[in-house]
Amino acid sequence: MKNGFNGMSKDSIGAAVWKVVLPYALFASLWILLSDVLVVLLVRDPLLTGVISTLKGWGFVIVTSMLLSVLVRRRVVKQNWVEANLRTLINTIPDPVWLKDSNGAYLSCNGAFERFVGKTSVQVLGRTDYDLFESGIADVFSRTDGEAIAVGGAVRSEEWLTVAADGSRALMETIKTPMHDNSGRLIGVLGIARDITERKRAEELLNEKHAEMERFIYTVSHDLKSPLITVRTFLGYLEQDLAANDAGRVRQDMGYVRAATDKMERMLGELLEVSRVGRMANPPTILMLRELVAEAVDAVAGQIAQRQVKVILTGDDVELYGDRPRLAEIWQNLIENGVKYMGGTADPVIEIGTHKNCEETVFTVCDNGIGIEPKDREKIFGLFSKLDAGSEGTGLGLALVKKIVEIYQGRIWVESEGAGRGSTFFFTLPGALNCQPRNREQVTAEELKTGSWGGV
Ligand code: ADP
Repeated sequence: MKNGFNGMSKDSIGAAVWKVVLPYALFASLWILLSDVLVVLLVRDPLLTGVISTLKGWGFVIVTSMLLSVLVRRRVVKQNWVEANLRTLINTIPDPVWLKDSNGAYLSCNGAFERFVGKTSVQVLGRTDYDLFESGIADVFSRTDGEAIAVGGAVRSEEWLTVAADGSRALMETIKTPMHDNSGRLIGVLGIARDITERKRAEELLNEKHAEMERFIYTVSHDLKSPLITVRTFLGYLEQDLAANDAGRVRQDMGYVRAATDKMERMLGELLEVSRVGRMANPPTILMLRELVAEAVDAVAGQIAQRQVKVILTGDDVELYGDRPRLAEIWQNLIENGVKYMGGTADPVIEIGTHKNCEETVFTVCDNGIGIEPKDREKIFGLFSKLDAGSEGTGLGLALVKKIVEIYQGRIWVESEGAGRGSTFFFTLPGALNCQPRNREQVTAEELKTGSWGGV
């Protein structure tokens, strides 16, 4: 007798048999009793009684056969209906489901399992994991089957597997549960697997964001403290200087307080700007690199003129697609930094360019300023990260640039031969590139502004 998934338990078979046998036995007994009594009451002739008994016997066989066939058909139809529903249910489950016996041989599987292993159920049933998967994975499956049996309950595991349908790799979460018959005897292990690749990726991203948020909160609270301490310190001095009626010192104290609050306001403003990147976006437009650079140069024209920096654009013009003001902020910040950290260079130059590196368009902003030591190349992209605590900036510019670049699936890095040897910032913007580079030419900052190079 079969047990489990496709078969019936002893009890249910017994119940089904009784449902056929009982009505049959009842009808047969009534037939015999009543017909015998009727024959005795109605027929006196012994010869006729013999003939009637023979006919009655045949009638009994015919009627009870018909009754039996109705009862059996009803049971079979009901059983088929239950089995068909069960099979539809299991086949409709979008996740692979299977049942193995206690020796690891497949007893049953659904359509999702067939698609997953790239075999029909006929090719699967009776086989073990060692026939269907490579031995390393089969070892893992047989071990987790054993664990489920040992634990006596559901056991969860995760494995990277190859999906036969398209050859892709998927992280599968498998839950295995031992199955027992009504007498408690182990009959196999039921397994169900789910592709959790996307869920895992989302979880990892969430964890990264969480860690980033913690770092952000720590840095913000730490760095915003410094202007607050300045304010508190100078308020103390202010009290003393007011008491001493020292107008000159009072003015000086107030100047420090004002400078600290101005700095805090700037820091909070820029911080808000960093936190908004990605959340608040302008509708994307098609724009040319030269236009963006011209805008960026315009925005820092004052500093460029003051420091007499020559701005050169080299390489191909590139068509970009994205949030115009955000993209312009990248070049604006980098050019501004180039000017700010030019140091005492006699012939200050900032060169803005593009080049192809293995089919990847790389944008560059290069200066011949104070340079950056190798140890600081990562650090400068962090929040409030300044190499010179006394410099005028807030240390948020490059963090903002990095965030914008990452929104366009790009990366940013800096190269410098060290202090006094200038710096080159490299970045990619794959998410903003949708066209081929156009004309190659060289233009100066002046030409960019006037548009005499023919771009704007
Ligand atoms: P900020 O300029 O406001 O201080 P940034 O995030 O733009 O903040 O830059 C972080 C730090 O990186 C700067 O304080 C400076 O020390 C260093 N840095 C940035 N750009 C350059 C550059 N072109 N040359 C040398 N150092 C730079």
